[in-house]
Amino acid sequence: MNYKNITVAGSGVLGSQIAYQTAFKGFPVTVYDINDEALDRAKDRIAKLMPRYQEDLGASMDEVEAGYGRITYHSDLTQAVAEADLVIEAVPEVVHIKEGFYKKLGKAAPDKTIFATNSSTMLPSQFAEATGRPAKFLALHFANEVWKNNTAEIMKHTGTDEQVFNDVIAFAKAIGMVALPLHKEQPGYILNSLLVPLLEVAQLLLVKEIADVETIDKTWMVGTKAPLGPFGILDVVGINTAYNIGQAKAQVTGDADFEKVAELLKNDYIDKGKLGRATGEGFYKYPNPTFAKPGFLES
Ligand code: NAD
Repeated sequence: MNYKNITVAGSGVLGSQIAYQTAFKGFPVTVYDINDEALDRAKDRIAKLMPRYQEDLGASMDEVEAGYGRITYHSDLTQAVAEADLVIEAVPEVVHIKEGFYKKLGKAAPDKTIFATNSSTMLPSQFAEATGRPAKFLALHFANEVWKNNTAEIMKHTGTDEQVFNDVIAFAKAIGMVALPLHKEQPGYILNSLLVPLLEVAQLLLVKEIADVETIDKTWMVGTKAPLGPFGILDVVGINTAYNIGQAKAQVTGDADFEKVAELLKNDYIDKGKLGRATGEGFYKYPNPTFAKPGFLES
């Protein structure tokens, strides 16, 4: 393993998970965020992950505490990256914030340091110049709840050094991820390139009144033996995210069916507080959704 010291920049939802997962797997981790209040929130978030590791992974108290103990916190960027072999960036998904961050980081970090972005929707080539070290920069994309949904999509841009690509793949494996290499840039990586069209078509089938939620999900679940259908997946993703995607699509395409999708999600779900699994109800009611009931897949 070519990397020893890891810095995670941005300690929100994903940054705190990446930091804890990395520390849990034995690496010393430094967490960087803009001020001490943000770092206090990160400590709190990370502490709340510890029982999840015990429940979901069967980790012992000693193990989760040892992971917690391997993390240090800094709001000074130069100090936060002084020893870093790898910086994983998880700052907000806003172009000017990421660009500003990479300009500062490029100056603050030692020459050896590799930078990886966790951006979900932006491509590494957008920031390669701003880093000042395009060959040492690529994407390393995690999924929410990294300890359970342990995909790591590792994506090069055309200037990424092959050795860096291979080292980041090895690092992803070392922290317990299933490493998924992408040899070229692809918006949405592999997972969302597959998933977004599936979810989109499911919603169109619904608003065109071709079939209802349960029938569409049942078709997918029986036909492919998948554990969830598209609407079950949408409940996990969250209705707000689905709405934002649907609305953007309606604006770009001007397609009336996508407008219907956005209206449906807003009026029947968001405005009624049905935001998906997180709120206990979306297309289904939890913890006992119809699709999990005995017999659902049998007739
Ligand atoms: P978030 O809003 O929860 O956290 C962002 C953090 O960045 C906050 O702690 C904030 O204080 C900090 N921050 C703001 N400006 C900063 C700066 N200039 N320098 C350093 N830190 C700064 O966001 P998130 O959901 O964790 O998303 C972060 C990144 O991870 C985004 O690129 C997003 O696309 C990606 N991502 C998110 C998810 C998800 O499910 N939330 C999944 C995969 C990837």
